Amino acid sequence: MTTNNNILTDSFGRTHSYLRISLTEKCNLRCTYCMPENGVPLSPKSELMTTDEIFEIASIFVKHGVTKIRLTGGEPLVRKDFSSILKQLSTLNTTLSITTNAVLVDRFINDFKTYGLNDINVSLDSLNADKFTYITRRNQFKKAYNNIIRLLEEGFRVKLNVVLLKDFNDDEIIDFINFTKHLNISVRFIEFMPFDGNNWNKDKLVTQAEILQKVETYFGYQNTIPLKNEKNFTARNYQIQGFKGNFGIISSVSNPFCDSCNRIRLTANGNIKNCLFSNTETALLQPYRAGKNIEPLIGNLIKKKHAVRAGMKDFETLNKPEFHTNNRSMITIGG
Ligand code: SAM
Ligand code: SF4
Repeated sequence: MTTNNNILTDSFGRTHSYLRISLTEKCNLRCTYCMPENGVPLSPKSELMTTDEIFEIASIFVKHGVTKIRLTGGEPLVRKDFSSILKQLSTLNTTLSITTNAVLVDRFINDFKTYGLNDINVSLDSLNADKFTYITRRNQFKKAYNNIIRLLEEGFRVKLNVVLLKDFNDDEIIDFINFTKHLNISVRFIEFMPFDGNNWNKDKLVTQAEILQKVETYFGYQNTIPLKNEKNFTARNYQIQGFKGNFGIISSVSNPFCDSCNRIRLTANGNIKNCLFSNTETALLQPYRAGKNIEPLIGNLIKKKHAVRAGMKDFETLNKPEFHTNNRSMITIGG
């Protein structure tokens, strides 16, 4: 263990320079693994961070060393003041990025360009319109797909997030990789993670080993080239020989990447979470509104961060329902 006075350095010496801000708990889709059909109980509007509060709280993190901010949700683009939020955050000295389902992206292309948001992760779990409608419970495939192509044409750096579910879309792994043949896009296969109410079951998981086996059988072992891991990586990346884009596997369940974790999450109602798998949160918004110094609160939660997955070191622990059913769903945490 190391000791460090920086409030964003934990007791294992990991510095947290990457802030993920959930802008809203609402969404225009209803992905089955993320959100119940009728939505989730929403925080009253008065308990959500306002445009200015998002900026002010983010500024405190930036003052202590955050260099990258990702906007997420819920669906961040459903927030009516999205452009104002982006404009304010663009005055901070950080890179800006977003995770979106792309349905509303065409309305914001100019804002992205004006305020320097170039790094866009889009969730798309199927290249088949019917399957997309089934998994999202909304008929928006065309809009999402066309917007992804538009982002690529406009020169944005696009990553495609695909949550793999056994016997639902694992038969599309090769199709998704073929999508990277002529397009400069990174496809990232994400293991299905357990959250409150999402009926997680280890049998629905498609593991890193299974994905790689499929890929190497189809494209050939020699043609499946491992790429150098990015700093603070969450995906192990590969490229098929001769393809323009690449693909990666985010294996937070079967093979977590906690050693290099630099993430801290701020929820739409102003709580921080030190790990996606953790079921404890620290409220910042009420003390901030009461004029209190929130820096010690941030420091305390960071210091309490576990070495691995909120203390669920192995798969057996994670598999126990009592450990994951009281972690609120991704939609309210901000994925
Ligand atoms: N609405 C935006 C979107 O879908 O990209 C941003 C929020 S969403 C919660 C962020 C990411 O979390 C998405 O890529 C989504 O696929 C992923 N996600 C949600 N629930 C998940 C789960 N149970 N397991 C793995 N990934 C999940
Ligand atoms: Fe909405 Fe994103 Fe969750 Fe799907 S994954 S329901 S698009 S927040």
